[in-house]
Amino acid sequence: MKNLYQIFKLIQPWRWSFLFSAILLIVGIFFRMLEPKMFQVAVDYIAPMFIQSGLKSGKTDGVISAVIAFLNSFSDGSLWSMLGLLAFLYILVSLCRAVFVFIANTINASSTEKASQRLRNMFFSHVQHLPMRYFASVSTGELIQRSTGDIETIRRFIGNQMVEVLRLTAIFVFSSYWLFKGNVVFGFISICATPLIAISAILFFNKEQKIWQKHEDEADKLNAITQENIAGIRVVKAFAQEEQEKLKFDQQNQRKLQVALSHAKLHTAFWPLSDLLVHIQIVLSVLFGGYLVLNQAISLGELISYYTYIVMVAWPMRQVGRTLSEMGMALVAMDRIQSVLDVEEEEFASNLKILDKLESIEFQDLWFRYPNEENYAIRNLNLKIIKGESILILGPMGSGKSTLLKLLLRFYEIEKGRILINGLDIAHYDKQDLRSKIGMVLQSAFLFTDTLAGNISYARKTAQEAEIFEVASIAQLKEVEEIFSDGFQTMVGEKGVSLSGGQKQRVSLARTMLQNPEILILDDVTSAVDTETEAEILHEIHKNWRDRTTLMVSHRLTLVPFVDRIVILENGSVSAEGNHEQVLKTNTFYKNIHEVQNTLEAEIEVY
Ligand code: ADP
Repeated sequence: MKNLYQIFKLIQPWRWSFLFSAILLIVGIFFRMLEPKMFQVAVDYIAPMFIQSGLKSGKTDGVISAVIAFLNSFSDGSLWSMLGLLAFLYILVSLCRAVFVFIANTINASSTEKASQRLRNMFFSHVQHLPMRYFASVSTGELIQRSTGDIETIRRFIGNQMVEVLRLTAIFVFSSYWLFKGNVVFGFISICATPLIAISAILFFNKEQKIWQKHEDEADKLNAITQENIAGIRVVKAFAQEEQEKLKFDQQNQRKLQVALSHAKLHTAFWPLSDLLVHIQIVLSVLFGGYLVLNQAISLGELISYYTYIVMVAWPMRQVGRTLSEMGMALVAMDRIQSVLDVEEEEFASNLKILDKLESIEFQDLWFRYPNEENYAIRNLNLKIIKGESILILGPMGSGKSTLLKLLLRFYEIEKGRILINGLDIAHYDKQDLRSKIGMVLQSAFLFTDTLAGNISYARKTAQEAEIFEVASIAQLKEVEEIFSDGFQTMVGEKGVSLSGGQKQRVSLARTMLQNPEILILDDVTSAVDTETEAEILHEIHKNWRDRTTLMVSHRLTLVPFVDRIVILENGSVSAEGNHEQVLKTNTFYKNIHEVQNTLEAEIEVY
């Protein structure tokens, strides 16, 4: 019920359009209800004028009297003029019905599209504001399935079934009214199977909902496998794991197929059953109708028009199954979307402090462990960085270097201890502003499907061409103009040219520089470039960003000449800090990598 309420809330802005469309549909149905009456007039009133049938003529009601009055006033009394006028009236009524249904469907379709667009926007914008820790717990495939497949299921339900419920109810009520009015027993027989169909539809609906939930979960997993495979296709190929990947996909595809088959089985069992019940009901009513005609209780014309109503009344009952089935799927889809919408967004409280000029960053007795983890990734870490310092953070893998940067960016909340910026707890700063002041260049640079210039000016779309050139030159992207005929207008990313790892990192570096951050963080950025380019990049950064606070994470000691201080992280805390000589004397880890890298360099020189 909660999910149904959510769907109603979603369409709230278009409620009047949906209501209007439903009213128009009901008017359309009203015209549809008049159509059988024309046959009744032809059989019961016109035919007996010209042939002696000896059969009873039917009851006259308001509609019949009006049609007869119309015929009497406009026809010349001949058979053809009467039938011609009746046919004209029939077409007119059908036309009116068609016009109303057309307008209703148009309004319904446009409101449905707008409502699903709203849901897509809501979902996307919510996902943008979810905390980083959430993304560690879901796969991209799951989120994509929700933003496409599930929203489509809801769209189908709103578009096809919501107004349909009103339409079916109207058809049922109108048709039953005419049937009961004709003969009460006849009316009862005409809807005798309704309770059975309703019960089987509800049972079906319950089962459908469960199977569909399973189906969507399996689809999530399949999507996750596809998405991961495509994103990691290089690794797959490099390790010759194509067959293994295919096997993994086949197995998941098979699981999804099994659920899809039980879903199909449920449908193939339900529809023939409800059809059978509907047909039994129609046969019973026709038999009883024939009996009534022979006993002169109703006329032949009445039976003909009632037959149309019987078929009409049976149709909504059959549709109840479809409506409930689509509703079942839509409720599952809404539940899956709601489970994402319910995840709390990162709060970006207003009135928080905006970081103007950075003076210092201080990590004080910091402890942190990832959600649901037992071990601490950061243990009692203390470190003070002052404005304009450039620091190289070194440490073995898993020593907490990336975690420290993530905490500074406030991707996670701190457990114990504090991070102070300009002496004030980081929690008092506006999170979004803080992040915009921290420029982070990551080891694995991500490029969007856009031009090179567009990628560089990602965080500041208003940047002038000259500014883009300037940062590109600091990032040593000199070759762009030579290699690509379109220069900085070359398309890159998924649909564009492929750049090398080093080029990507340099684009990402240029992007960050254009952001003009207070704190520059380079997370192993120069790992994919050769030593010469690395030296050039570092030299440019050093020259242009001397007064900027810079934190570098790397394993390469080639960075040492460009930094003021070296900080060694081991086991989540600072084990040594100082300049090269100081650290070399006191820290074994540093001494070891220094020796290894020296030996390597010596060997390279020999070759
Ligand atoms: P480094 O950057 O120095 O290689 P990290 O900061 O990535 O180290 O990792 C520090 C510790 O935290 C490691 O033990 C790692 O396994 C753990 N860790 C890193 N990221 C996560 C995460 N998202 N969830 C749980 N544990 C994590």
